[in-house]
Amino acid sequence: MKKTIKKPELTYSNKNGYEKLPKAELKNLEELNRLYIDFIARAKTERDAHDEAVALLETAGFSDLLKFEKDNTRLKPGDRIYKSCSGKTLMAVIIGKKPLEAGMHIVGAHTDSPRIDIKQNPLYESGDMAFLDTHYYGGIKKYQWVTIPLALHGVFIKPDGKKIKVSVGEDPSEPVLCITDLLPHLAQDQMKKTLAEGIEGEHLDAIVGSIPSDDKKLKEKIKHNVLKLLNEKYGITEEDFLSAELELVPAAPPREAGLDRSMVLGYGQDDRVCAYTGLKAMIDLKGTPEYTSCVLLCDKEEIGSVGATGMASNFFENTAAELVNLTSEVYSELSLKRAMEHSWMLSADVNSLFDPLFPAVSEKKNTAFMNHGLCLTKYCGARGKSGSSDANAEFVAEMRRIFAKAGVIWQTGELGKVDQGGGGTIAWLMARYGMQVVDCGVGLLSMHAPMELAGKLDIYMAYKGYLAFLKDGRK
Ligand code: MN
Ligand code: MN
Repeated sequence: MKKTIKKPELTYSNKNGYEKLPKAELKNLEELNRLYIDFIARAKTERDAHDEAVALLETAGFSDLLKFEKDNTRLKPGDRIYKSCSGKTLMAVIIGKKPLEAGMHIVGAHTDSPRIDIKQNPLYESGDMAFLDTHYYGGIKKYQWVTIPLALHGVFIKPDGKKIKVSVGEDPSEPVLCITDLLPHLAQDQMKKTLAEGIEGEHLDAIVGSIPSDDKKLKEKIKHNVLKLLNEKYGITEEDFLSAELELVPAAPPREAGLDRSMVLGYGQDDRVCAYTGLKAMIDLKGTPEYTSCVLLCDKEEIGSVGATGMASNFFENTAAELVNLTSEVYSELSLKRAMEHSWMLSADVNSLFDPLFPAVSEKKNTAFMNHGLCLTKYCGARGKSGSSDANAEFVAEMRRIFAKAGVIWQTGELGKVDQGGGGTIAWLMARYGMQVVDCGVGLLSMHAPMELAGKLDIYMAYKGYLAFLKDGRK
């Protein structure tokens, strides 16, 4: 009998993932996306995402690491735990068969998204209306955030520690807030300005009321009426804004998009798309992995990962130290350093997709395309790769092996063509430990806009890719 040996393909081509996806997997793809849409509908802020993730983890049998830390309860392979940082950043772990010193497999995503934060002393009255003054968060194109329905989320913290949660505008029965724009009839001066200047940061104030209070003696009757309503509903006074964190986010729910329903349109997909698919992969990981698996959902990425809940803080390293302590006979600093250095990480953040309406910013051979699969980005940065965490080719090759074995459809993509712009995420913060890190996430259109667009196949492949990475041993 003649044996046919398949010759290796000489050329590399990158096709639409739907042409490669086994038909039997379509059902799983749709189910994962249904769960994802449900998650981002509820996880509208970093605090909401944290709470939703904790609920999912607890249902899946993960326990709070704090309990183990308190009574020095030993951790053993297969144990499923999580650790929270200030109710914003979260880490989930499954202890692997190998000692921590051998390294971890980490999927690191972020749950904060560009939005409009309420200032500390925000309420004022003007033109017979009351407003909340704001300071936007993250890189937004300000003109996109006017005239859309906005929901108010967040917390008031009283001096005695009492936390009052606020969520207004998500349910269709609740009111929404909005920021106005000028009618075109009177916008001749505004229209001559650049897109960056047409709507300025201090302009982004949301209208919250227009009914005056009954009290004839008061000076700012509309502002007082709003305060009265807030006091009745939440028991707060104007001073309580000083210790509040309130965020305005688009109120519209995420939806399936396209006549063929092949995409998801929704707020905050940067980076809750990688956060959710990473989390779900962790939850679905069966049995005990070779290497300790870890999913990180961190805060403050959009403003440079700074602050106590950002990736630049020591939260991850401290938690890794707790893990070393609870899994080894004697705690040693050297074991911790080895655990960090020997780790592998997918820095799970979104990338840009090729947009045929704006072809000039991309170089087509090295750009990610809608529904061509999970996007792996060896380096980002700007101007000669400046500021980029350039992954080792050896590590990229490991990813090729893992993805091929698991049937993950994936592609590579740079963030824009050379010298067009650029960007960066948390990869470099982890690379400092000497661990292997590469950016790997879902491509988006309209990134950082109130409504971002992602491909369902790409979302499904992120889940598959992260799962394969977390559970796969090394060669
Ligand atoms: Mn991001
Ligand atoms: Mn971003």
